[in-house]
Amino acid sequence: MTLRQPRATQVSLLLLLVMLLIGGFVSTSLVSYYTSRASLRSSIIDTALPLTSDNIYSEIQKDLVRPVLISSMMARDTFVLDWLAAGEQQPAQMTRYLQEIMSNYGAVTAFFVSEKSRTYYQAKGVLKQIDENLPRDAWYAQTRNMTEPYKINVDVDMANADRMTFFINYKVYDYERNFVGVTGVGLAVDAVVKLIDDYQQRYQRSIYFVDGNGRLTLTGANGGPLGSTVGQSLRDVPGMHDLLAQLPKPQGGNFEYQLQGSGHYINVRFIPELNAYLFVDENESDALSSIRTTLYLNLLISLLISAIVLTLVSIAMRRYQQRIAALATTDVLTELPNRRGFNLLASQALQEAKRANSPLNALLIDIDHFKNLNDTYGHLAGDEVLRSFAGHLRASMRQSDIICRWGGEEFIILFKDTDNATAQLLAEKIRTQTELNRYPFAGVNLHATISLGLTELRPEDSLDSLIGRADRALYRAKESGRNRLCVDAGQPL
Ligand code: GH3
Ligand code: MG
Ligand code: MG
Repeated sequence: MTLRQPRATQVSLLLLLVMLLIGGFVSTSLVSYYTSRASLRSSIIDTALPLTSDNIYSEIQKDLVRPVLISSMMARDTFVLDWLAAGEQQPAQMTRYLQEIMSNYGAVTAFFVSEKSRTYYQAKGVLKQIDENLPRDAWYAQTRNMTEPYKINVDVDMANADRMTFFINYKVYDYERNFVGVTGVGLAVDAVVKLIDDYQQRYQRSIYFVDGNGRLTLTGANGGPLGSTVGQSLRDVPGMHDLLAQLPKPQGGNFEYQLQGSGHYINVRFIPELNAYLFVDENESDALSSIRTTLYLNLLISLLISAIVLTLVSIAMRRYQQRIAALATTDVLTELPNRRGFNLLASQALQEAKRANSPLNALLIDIDHFKNLNDTYGHLAGDEVLRSFAGHLRASMRQSDIICRWGGEEFIILFKDTDNATAQLLAEKIRTQTELNRYPFAGVNLHATISLGLTELRPEDSLDSLIGRADRALYRAKESGRNRLCVDAGQPL
């Protein structure tokens, strides 16, 4: 197996782990996100929006329906009918009546228009004569012609410096059911807008009113969907077009539509008193923002955990690999580098020596008659001698020297930055020391001698040629009687 293969396996293992972790985390986060989204959606549609609509309806009844009731009461007031029947004598009486209505009910204006005389009475006096041909008086003809008893109109109030006013125009019939005029009160539009803004703020939803033809009749200060304004048809609002295509006329119920890429839920309810539809509109993305934040947080935590797990796994893998590499290059019995470890270290040492032009000597050592020792005292005794001999060898060497168990009972040492004469002295010291050493085993003091072959690195040398010469020198040492050092020049010391 080459060195690349384990790395590639490691990388693909890590990639698989990344995919599993992230895939697992992302899918659980998404499943929980979509589940919460679905439950939130049904709670918005089934509970929250209808409930808001109910609440607003009861608030509207309190705030907006009251003026409608006042106008209805005015249209049926016997004083108004009697005063009309008497021929509109003393306009001051009507003016006082309207003043009373205004001050008692807090309206910004109160008015009466007589069908017969076309006189426009209001609290401050007679305002003018209605001329149906004028655009600003067109409302009067519209009111007369409509079938409903009243209409809510947003218009300027001439009696109040042309201030935008929310008029309730109520048809007046005499005791014989003949149409005799229009009466009602007005509220300042900004007050109504403020009211809607107040609802919107309290319920955190968009609130607007739409008439039976899909036209906006009342909105908060920021208008209806996409900033549409009162009088505009919802058909002209891009996102609502499809919705209104489904419902040619507004109708009560729960609906969904898309506005600029974000989903909206709406609850529509008819408010008979206002003759308008109340739209309670909730932007899905606002409602989902908290669960979306949870999703992002989940994903972030997942990424963090994945990153931590990956870091830990890769650290563990690297350590494990280093351990395996160390095991593969170390001899178990003597704990010295084995031949594979030696080859790695030696080729590097050779290159360095050649580059720096520094001397390097190779010493091959073989224990004499080791077979006899094994045969006499057993294999375990042989092992013990090998282990102790290796220990002594390592203890007598410098840190920079490379020692290796070459195989069986053979060892090799590379003396770095050491000339041949010094190496011969060192080798001889090892030999004499070994001769003196004793290796206690099972009550016996074992001993051994060694034969040594020494050679110096030459410029043209490869590792094989260097060891080859050391081996020949060792062979000569064996041949010439063992327990001695031979240098590759052939002269024993
Ligand atoms: P010579 O002086 O010619 O080197 O003789 P020798 O007996 O030492 O040489 P030979 O190569 O005949 O024998 C080496 C022996 O070393 C044979 C083998 O069983 C033994 N040996 C090799 N590795 C180990 C080991 O790890 N433990 C033990 N106990 N013996 C080993
Ligand atoms: Mg041998
Ligand atoms: Mg031997």
